[in-house]
Order: sequence, then C-alpha cells, then structure tokens
Amino acid sequence: MLRSRAVQILPLIILALLVGRAMADYPLRPVPFNEVEMTSDFWRPRLVTQRKTLVPFAFERTQPGVEHLQAARDFLAGKKVQDHRAHRFIDSDLYKVMEGAAYLLQLRGDPELEAKIDELADVIEGAQDSNGYLYPSHTTGVGQTRNMMGDSPYTFVVHSHELYNVGHLYEAAIAYYQATGKKKLLDVAEKSAQHINRVFFVGDPEYNGGKPIQQAPGHQELELALVKLHRVTGKPLYLDMARKFLEIRGISYVPEGEGVMSPTYAQQHAPVTQQKEAVGHAVRATYLYSAMADVGTLTGESGYSEALDRIWGNITNTRMHITGGLGAVHGIEGFGPQYELPNADAFNETCAAVGNVLFNYRMFLLHKDARYLDVAEVALLNNVLAAVNLEGNRFFYVNPLEADGKHPFNHGTAGRAPWFGTACCPSNMARLLPQVPGMTYAHDDRDVYITFYAESHTEIMIDGVKIDLRQQTAYPNDGEVSLVVNPEQQKEFRLLLRIPTWAGERFCPGELYRYVDSTEEKVQLTVNGKVVPVQLNKGFVAIDRQWKAGDRVQLTLPMPVRINECHPAVRANQNRIALTRGPFVLCAEGLDNKGATQRFFFANDPQVLDAVVSTTTIDAGSFLQVRTTAQAVTADKAVENAPLVLTPYYAWNNRGVSSMTVWFPRDPDLAVFDPHLLPKESLFAKLTASHTFADDTVNAIGDGKEPRYSSGKKVPRWTSRPQKGKPQWVEARFHANKNLRSVGVYWMQDRLDVKFPAEWSIEVEQNGQWKPFELYVTDRYDRRANQYNVVHPAAPIRCDAIRVQMTPRDDACVGILEMIVEFEKE
Ligand SMILES: [Zn+2]
Repeated sequence: MLRSRAVQILPLIILALLVGRAMADYPLRPVPFNEVEMTSDFWRPRLVTQRKTLVPFAFERTQPGVEHLQAARDFLAGKKVQDHRAHRFIDSDLYKVMEGAAYLLQLRGDPELEAKIDELADVIEGAQDSNGYLYPSHTTGVGQTRNMMGDSPYTFVVHSHELYNVGHLYEAAIAYYQATGKKKLLDVAEKSAQHINRVFFVGDPEYNGGKPIQQAPGHQELELALVKLHRVTGKPLYLDMARKFLEIRGISYVPEGEGVMSPTYAQQHAPVTQQKEAVGHAVRATYLYSAMADVGTLTGESGYSEALDRIWGNITNTRMHITGGLGAVHGIEGFGPQYELPNADAFNETCAAVGNVLFNYRMFLLHKDARYLDVAEVALLNNVLAAVNLEGNRFFYVNPLEADGKHPFNHGTAGRAPWFGTACCPSNMARLLPQVPGMTYAHDDRDVYITFYAESHTEIMIDGVKIDLRQQTAYPNDGEVSLVVNPEQQKEFRLLLRIPTWAGERFCPGELYRYVDSTEEKVQLTVNGKVVPVQLNKGFVAIDRQWKAGDRVQLTLPMPVRINECHPAVRANQNRIALTRGPFVLCAEGLDNKGATQRFFFANDPQVLDAVVSTTTIDAGSFLQVRTTAQAVTADKAVENAPLVLTPYYAWNNRGVSSMTVWFPRDPDLAVFDPHLLPKESLFAKLTASHTFADDTVNAIGDGKEPRYSSGKKVPRWTSRPQKGKPQWVEARFHANKNLRSVGVYWMQDRLDVKFPAEWSIEVEQNGQWKPFELYVTDRYDRRANQYNVVHPAAPIRCDAIRVQMTPRDDACVGILEMIVEFEKE
C-alpha cells in the first residue's frame, strides 16, 4: 500500500529537533506524492509512461552528462582524459533525470533503477574535488571564458552555471536519499554546500584571493535546493545560505550589459524584496520566486511575501498566456513588456511553465488561497503537459499558441523534437510529473484541503485520527467528483474543496482573460445527498462537521465549452476568441480540419451549446475532442460554414505536424485560407558563396523549399563539391539593415562526399565590417540531422548580412539545403 517516508527520514527529524529551534514552515502541509495512490485514468498512464519510456529514454539522452562527469573523475584519479569537451550545464540535465528516477523509486522499488543511480552516484562522488568543488569543465581544465564559464572556478558566476548545476544535484540527492536511505549523494551535496559557503560567504584561500565572493548565482536554482537540504538535514546553515544568496541578489553584483548581460535578465536589477514586476529570463524568475516563497516562510521575513504578491499580480494581469505559459519573448527566453503575448511567436519555455507550477503551489501553501492552485492547474494541464507527447519521447522546448505546420519554431523543427542540445525542458518533465500526485491533498492540524481533483486515495492524520479519503472522478475530463470520507472514528474537522476560477467568471485568475458567454449550469455540492451552499472563501468552500465513516461529498463542476476574450491591450488577441472547457484550453489542428486552421473564424459567438465532446484514441493514449461549427474562408475568398474539431492544447502535435490555432478571429479579414500561399518577400536580397558546385545553386538555401531530410533528395541544394577539406563560406545579404533574432541552417549530408562540417560559425556585417557573432548562452553550433540548427545572438544584433563559415572534415565537402533567419519586429 502507501509507502511512508517516515521510517527513512526519522533519524534526520530527530537530528533537526536536536539542532535546536523549531522550524517555521508553511501553514499547510501537502500530502507527499508517494502517500497518494493515483488511480486516475488521466494521470496513471502518464506515471506508467514516465517509468517505462520517459525516464529510461532521458537517461539514454543524458549519457553525455555522465561522460562529462566521468572525465572529471578520471582526471582526479590521475588518469589521462581525452576528448573531454567543456560544457556548462550538461550535468544538470542528468541530475534532473536522476531526481525524477528517485521519485519513481519512492513510489515503487525497482532494483535495476536503483543500481543505475548507485552507479551514477559513484561517478559523481569521484568527480567532486576533495574540497567539495564539483564542475567537470574546470576540474579538468577545459573550461574557458569563451564558453561562458570563466577561465577558472567562480570567475564568471553570472553565466557559468556552477551553482545552478549543484542545485539540481542536491535535489536529486535528497530525492534518492528519501527513496532509499542511501547517503552517498547526500554527502556529496553537503560537502558541496559547505564548500560553497566557505568560498562565497567566509573566504577560502584557494578562491578569489581568500575574499568571500558574495555573488548570487546567475541562474537561480541553488537557493531552493538549499532550502530542501536544510529541511532534510535540519541544519540551519543551508537555510542561511539560501537567505544570503537572496539578500545579495541585485546588491553585491549587477551586470551592466545588454541581452543576457542586462541587469534584468537574471533579476539582478534590484534587491529581490524591492522587485515589482516579472522581468528577464522566465525560468530564472520562477525559480527565484519559488525560493523567495520558501525562504520568506521559513525565516518569517515578510518582505519576500509582499514582493511576491506584487509580482504574481503583475504576471497574472499582464504577462501570462492563457495556457499558463510564461516568458513570451524569444531572445531572452523571458518576459517581454506588459501585454506582449504573441501567439505564433510565443516562446513560453517548458521549464518556465514548470516553474510557474512550482511557484504557484508554494504561494498556495503560504496563503491558503485557491487562486494560486488555479494558475498552477492551468499551467500544468496546458503548457506543461503539452511539452511531452503521450508516448513520452518527444518534446517541446518552445510552446507557441499558433503554428502554420511548416515554420520550425521548436529549436529547428515544426513539431516536437526527440531531445535538445540544451535539454533542460525534457529533463524537467522527468522530475515534475511524478510529483503531481503530491499536489492533490494538503492539511494542517484541523483542516483538510482537496486541492487538485483526480481519482485517488490517501490517508491523513488529523489530531491523532486517521482520515481515509477516496476521490472518484474522471477529472480533468469531467467535473463530477465524488469523495468518500472515512475517519477511523467520528471526528470533527473542516473539509475544504477548491472551486476553480474556471468554474466562475473567467478561465484563470488575473485580468487577462474573461468569459464572454454565460451559462445556466451552476456548481453544486452535497454531503450525503443534502445540498451545501457554495460560499467561497479564498476559492474554497468549507464543510465543517462531525465526519463519520462513509460520508459522501458530491461536487459537480459543470464543464461547458466557454468563450474567452483577452484583455484589449494584448494586440495579438484583439478581435479574437479562444475556447476552453473546464481547465483545458482548446485548439484546432490542421490534420483534423482539412487544411490550415488559420482559415476559420467566428463572426458570431460559436454555438458552443451544440459542441459535441468525444474521445479520440491513438496508440499512445486518448484525449477528448470537441466538435462545433465555425465559418471559414475558402480559396476564392468566399465564406462557408464549416465543422471545426478542437483538441485540448496539451494533446496537440501527437499525430504529426500540422497547423494549430488557439485564438480564432471574429473578423473574416483576419482569417487566411492558407498561410503558405501568402506572397512572401524572399528572405535574402542576395546569396553568394566561396565556391558552388556546377550542378547546384547557392540560391537553393533561400528558395523556401522545405527539406524533409538532411539527404535532401527532393530539394535544390548548395554544396562545395569537389573541394574536400577546404574552408567555405556562404553569405546572405538582407533587404535592409535588420535586427537579427536567429539563424537556422539545414545541413546536408549524403552517402557520397558531402558531410556535416567539422565546425561552423556565423559572422555578421555591420557598417561594412565583418564581426564575430556572440552566441546566446545556451546555444551551440550544432550539426543535427533532419532539422534546422538554430543559433541566436547573445543580444539582438543589427546587421546587413551574415556569413556562415564552415570547416569541412578533411575527407568531405559541405552542403546546405535551406537557411532561415528571423528578425525582431521593428
Ligand atoms: Zn527548459
């Protein structure tokens, strides 16, 4: 039955008590995920997929991280290390997968998986310097400033990710300790934390001339990991370190550049308690806010909570997509100006949606207010779940709200990718999904909160009395929830049920979205058949009574399809509507709708009362779809009534690449029969190359003919045949001086003499001078097959032309099938 962690962590709890002062904590305690038995048809298959596919697949894909650590271990053991390449954060992705695997172990023993983590623990222990330092690239001496990691340890904390990586290690170590009671990784984590404390806050003669570094991590994560380390060990030092890292942020160091070196990028523009708006890189931001909630709560300092309330209001009122996506703009992967919420162009990194869930769940525990759960639920069921396919092996990094089925928005592809060069997003899915059952129930000494609805079972102790709780429901696909309350003896307590925001006036909290239709269907609640008035306090209805075995609570949350309008300040959604059902945002996909979804519009509000809901099943799972009627423009610009099939946003792109729309126009003039038929200015004014093979043309790389494979059999190509081993360049001149956002190169490779280049890079022309192109921090010059290899500048850069410089392999020529560039909107 339900496994308890109590036995495993008892010694540490005793230690925590011995260490002294009682820990302040959140007023509510969540029931840990491993004490919730999830039987839901919606969630259980995902947990099975997690164990069968996603985590094993993610371990395979993070093998380079293992090799990276092995090199450091071998180096420290005095062995010769060959072909070891510097990488700033590849270890962190492995750590996150380990964390996810450890959660699976907490749910159920698995000797093979446990042996795998034991093996990894040996490697990680071996890769740690004797003084506690853990960062392979510097340990082996391959780390360098040009890789954004500084030339030696802690000399470029703003971008090196040295502290970020170990933060993820701590979370993995704690999860594994809680699963198995094994301390090896936890010891590595503590040794690392104590080393960081010496170097950053005390002074260590080996670093920074012995002076404490006193600089906050450029990518937050360590702060919240330190809080967890404090919780599990009971040692005040770690909480104190987390507090110090928050306190010095925006004070002891403020970068003075642009783009990734701007003060706002990593939220270093102001002391954290004085921050007013969500700015900068969205993943960094949400991890920061999560840590602030933890530290503010555990230390009792109210400044954090006041700042978080302001920032939360700013996000939900001005900077969140209806899918719960955060960080709308490319370039900084972060928050743009208020109300800047584009659809096709939305960035919405998966990790930022994960961070949105982590942040909002903490805010709920702090304020006991359901609106935070409502945001967490919207983010989880829409943006987060969209990020992985039902099969569990293809991912979104970028999560737009519109797609044309061709434009490669997701790091080089127009659909999901099996993995990424920067793999933070899929590894975040590995660790978040097993934790979801832990958001279902929470309690304090007297009150029991039902927070997420899902078919599940748990037991909660209230005042020494065991309360058995069993939910029967098909939520989130259906709004009927039946809850059986079984106290082991009659017991008086308060049961609080969340009435989601979506069941009221708007889809989610904040001022951005509101329903424009009305519904007669009302939320209903009964206890043992007797009606209970639905009076809300902080989004919960409370039932205070003497509970006895077999009491049955019946909650009905009607789920008609609703029509949403967006705040008029959001330009992208003016004169448009989106449809939602329950907690789900609906979208249309081209493959259900006989062509581009951009051709549909609703001149009148849709007849959603007629919407038919049915289940669609594919090999990897099933999801609900809604059928209704819309209008559509035809090829000859006429208007016709047309059936429209809608899919929950989370399930899109599970059946192949096609167009997708969330926000439908009301105005037929905004509808487009086929976005690919629109006349397009050619991307480049002129293309030239160092050498072009007689049978090929350099104009091939800008002809708009999309390759499907790197072999490029069906599309024109540029190659440097027969010049084997000779450096080459291709130059693309723009129509005007443009603000460059990204460049994507589709490399060619065949069975003859054209191979991917050994190395490549980009130069930009400014005022007639060629200059190197400084890569965005998480980018690399990749050579991936069957997709665009996309790079971004560190900050948007104005230029007239770009050059792709290529160094072929000794025995090969190079070739390009297509190149795309994107510019910032002027
Ligand atoms: Zn990510």
